[in-house]
Amino acid sequence: MENYFEYLENNGAKAELNMQEHLTDHFTVWEMLHSNTCDRIGMLNRLDEPEVIIPRLRTLCQQVLEPLRQQYGKIIVISGYRSDCLNYVVGGVPNSQHCLGEAADIYVSDYDELKQYMTFIQQNLTFDQLIMERNKKTGNYWLHVSYTKRHENRRQVLKLER
Ligand SMILES: [Zn+2]
Repeated sequence: MENYFEYLENNGAKAELNMQEHLTDHFTVWEMLHSNTCDRIGMLNRLDEPEVIIPRLRTLCQQVLEPLRQQYGKIIVISGYRSDCLNYVVGGVPNSQHCLGEAADIYVSDYDELKQYMTFIQQNLTFDQLIMERNKKTGNYWLHVSYTKRHENRRQVLKLER
């Protein structure tokens, strides 16, 4: 695991983020920025506006991920923030909330766990979108959840196969 994340500031200067910094008790910057896809193909998950994105990721952790963690124990984030390029590579929808630092995909071991998480979030938390996602090829499920401060949270619940 790399400890620092390099990025370019607006003036073009190189800067670093401490990946071990905690956003909440159980979620670090690394968990919200790392990407297995990037590691595999050697791409940088480019972050141009950490001063905007990191606070959004922190809010998502505070409002959704941390309460879920308190309820169920370890929560694995498959994908948090995505650069536009990474979003394209993984086939995310254009204008994905992942690119805004407002969404996370959460690992679930099976359908029952998926339903448990969804029910808890719907009954206890505020969220913008909650999407039950399924990979058609592998049959694997994961849970997409987002939280926004740009407009009212819509509490939309959707299903998506891809
Ligand atoms: Zn997602």
